[in-house]
Amino acid sequence: FTNPDSGRGFSSFNRCLSSAASDSNLIRATLFPGDGIGPEIAESVKQVFREAEVPIEWEEHYVGQEIDPRTQSFLTWESLESVRQNGVGLKGPMATPIGKGHRSLNLTLRKELNLYANVRPCYSLPGYKTRYDDVNLITIRENTEGEYSGLEHQVVRGVVESLKIITRQASLRVAEYAFHYAKTHGRERVSAIHKANIMQKTDGLFLKCCREVAEKYPEIKYEEVVIDNCCMMLVKNPALFDVLVMPNLYGDIISDLCAGLIGGLGLTPSCNIGEGGIALAEAVHGSAPDIAGKNLANPTALLLSSVTMLRHLKLHDKANRIQDAILNTIAEGKYRTADLGGSSSTTDFTRAICDHL
Ligand code: NAD
Repeated sequence: FTNPDSGRGFSSFNRCLSSAASDSNLIRATLFPGDGIGPEIAESVKQVFREAEVPIEWEEHYVGQEIDPRTQSFLTWESLESVRQNGVGLKGPMATPIGKGHRSLNLTLRKELNLYANVRPCYSLPGYKTRYDDVNLITIRENTEGEYSGLEHQVVRGVVESLKIITRQASLRVAEYAFHYAKTHGRERVSAIHKANIMQKTDGLFLKCCREVAEKYPEIKYEEVVIDNCCMMLVKNPALFDVLVMPNLYGDIISDLCAGLIGGLGLTPSCNIGEGGIALAEAVHGSAPDIAGKNLANPTALLLSSVTMLRHLKLHDKANRIQDAILNTIAEGKYRTADLGGSSSTTDFTRAICDHL
């Protein structure tokens, strides 16, 4: 297969970049296997990388048993330092117990490493039929503020308050990332997704920033779509959209909706981009406790996330080889995991991908 993005110039753009990393040198990357199905699918990535002879040396970090006072979470300071020093990493899903009071591991990572943009590509997989065969979207989620600011408290008994923070700085930064992404990946349009008719101040500021940035990119079409209407349009005709940029919570929800358009959460990758060029790739999905430890998980989303990490490192030959092997295995249809209607285990599916390398 050609790269699914090749129709819009992504593949040619990436392939023509000079290789910054020589295959003879090992590159250190941080790996968080994570919780639930995380260790199983991380094992798939390690196996595929070994067999594709990817010059990566993993530095594995596990979630700690106690709260580290320096991170105020179960993530150790050393694991964050590892990402800072390596500049790249891959993260398995991390569970967040609901309402237990300690700081979310995912939020800690995003805040401590200033991972300001979460890029979530979503495209129809050749040979895997859903209601749509032409999905090719990029959701770009603001990743550091909005409803995820962690500022919640009880006002009086029976009344709680949660603060949604939107800043000009974070909004401009993610809008700039989205337009730059569109321009450098041969994309035509950026849609800002909002609810500014109700959230007039917060989403209003977000939109104002998107408009400011749009003016710097006259070659990219710009539109604004109210989030409820966006959901309806996505389900009716996903081809209406190209690059979508939005505040944090909307990005969380819309990207799961997008995953549903192409076959589910087992398929959608993402990459968190931080200040100073840090890239921490992770699947969109969570720890899937319902299937954890059963050798049933689909490793595709984490594998495709690892491909985005390789592209960040400009290891495009390895990235293309692994991506093609994954897509060819799914298209062939002999080995598919249960979420895609098949009966293969995680390990058998991974073996099949390796055989397609
Ligand atoms: P989830 O994404 O873990 O699971 C939703 C559904 O999708 C489940 O039925 C699950 O079995 C299925 N699924 C997910 N990934 C799959 C895969 N690779 N292969 C096959 N099926 C897959 O969402 P949830 O159940 O709401 O969350 C579980 C935990 O994960 C929670 O603690 C949540 O906070 C956490 N979470 C973490 C992240 C992250 O680390 N970035 C993201 C979302 C949720």
